[in-house]
Amino acid sequence: MSDCIFCKIVSGDIPGDIVYQDDDVLAFRDLSPQAPVHFLVIPKKHISTINDLQPTDAELIGKLYLAAKQVANQQGMAESGYRCVMNCNDDGGQTVHHIHLHVLGKRQMTWPPG
Ligand code: 5GP
Ligand code: ZN
Repeated sequence: MSDCIFCKIVSGDIPGDIVYQDDDVLAFRDLSPQAPVHFLVIPKKHISTINDLQPTDAELIGKLYLAAKQVANQQGMAESGYRCVMNCNDDGGQTVHHIHLHVLGKRQMTWPPG
C-alpha cells in the first residue's frame, strides 16, 4: 500500500526505531509512547484491520506474538509484565490501518482501558 505509513517504515522510505525484524515481522518503537516501553509489532505484509484477516494469516499472527515475547524479554519486562493490544477500527481506537500489536510495559497498566 503506497500511502500506508507502516508500509513505508517496512520499505525504509520513512525511518523507524527498529527493535526486531525477520522475513515476516517488524517491530519498532511507537512515536508517541504511552508507557516507558512501547513498541509496535507489525506484519511486513499490508493487512488493514483484524477484519481483513484470513485463515492463511494464522501463522503470521502467531509470529507477531513470538516477536513481542522476544523483544519484551530483551527489554527486561518479561517477569514484570506487559500488555499486548491490537485495536480495530474507530471504536477500537485504530488510527493506522495496517494491523499492529502494541506492546507496553515498565509501568502498571489499568483495567478496563479507557
Ligand atoms: P492505533 O491508534 O492505530 O492503534 O495506533 C497507532 C500508533 O502508531 C500510535 O500509537 C502512534 O503513536 C503510532 N504512530 C503513528 N505514526 C507513526 C510513525 O510514523 N512512526 C511510529 N514509530 N509510530 C507511529
Ligand atoms: Zn501498510
